[in-house]
Amino acid sequence: MNEIIKNPPPHNFSKWKNANRRISINYKDIPDIIKCELKESIITEQNYVCCYCGVEVSIENSHIEHHKPKDRFPKMELAYENLLVSCNSKSHCGHKKANWYVENETVSPLAKDCNLKFKYTEDGQIIASNDKDSCTTNTIMNLGLNIAKLNAIRSKIIEGIMYLIEQEENISLEDLIDEYSKPNADGKLYSYNQVIIGVLKDNYNL
Ligand SMILES: [Zn+2]
Repeated sequence: MNEIIKNPPPHNFSKWKNANRRISINYKDIPDIIKCELKESIITEQNYVCCYCGVEVSIENSHIEHHKPKDRFPKMELAYENLLVSCNSKSHCGHKKANWYVENETVSPLAKDCNLKFKYTEDGQIIASNDKDSCTTNTIMNLGLNIAKLNAIRSKIIEGIMYLIEQEENISLEDLIDEYSKPNADGKLYSYNQVIIGVLKDNYNL
């Protein structure tokens, strides 16, 4: 999970909300053109990775996710700070989470240093950095982040990075962490970048 820093909402979204402030409007009322702009703005903030699992996403293979579910938090339905972009998997992330959200028991990608709450085992499992941290454990469970499919992907990534380090004697681990922490020239992060960062920091005490 990468920490997401929100920008101001897109101008046309604020303008539409303001123009309709005297009537009851819902998420489904947002005109398509404004919804497109909204999604583009959010996905850019997230450097094109899913807000939960960290896989690379595009406009086409993702959806706008209400971190606080809109059915249970109607006041947050159109709040820009509550809108994230998730991958479209049915077995994990936004679709798996559905209406789950428990105050103080849900790790938010908007929380400072949220990435530090998770760590990864060599076989690709995601676990809470602190085993007494029920908030992180509950989040992992309710978002389906520790399912076999994701574990297998992460395990391959970990194997790859370990192999690279073994092969290249003069490789700088700090440079590697730096490379995976920052978006490339197109504003995109690597898929599952936090897995690599977490494993490097954990294994080499960085
Ligand atoms: Zn995801």
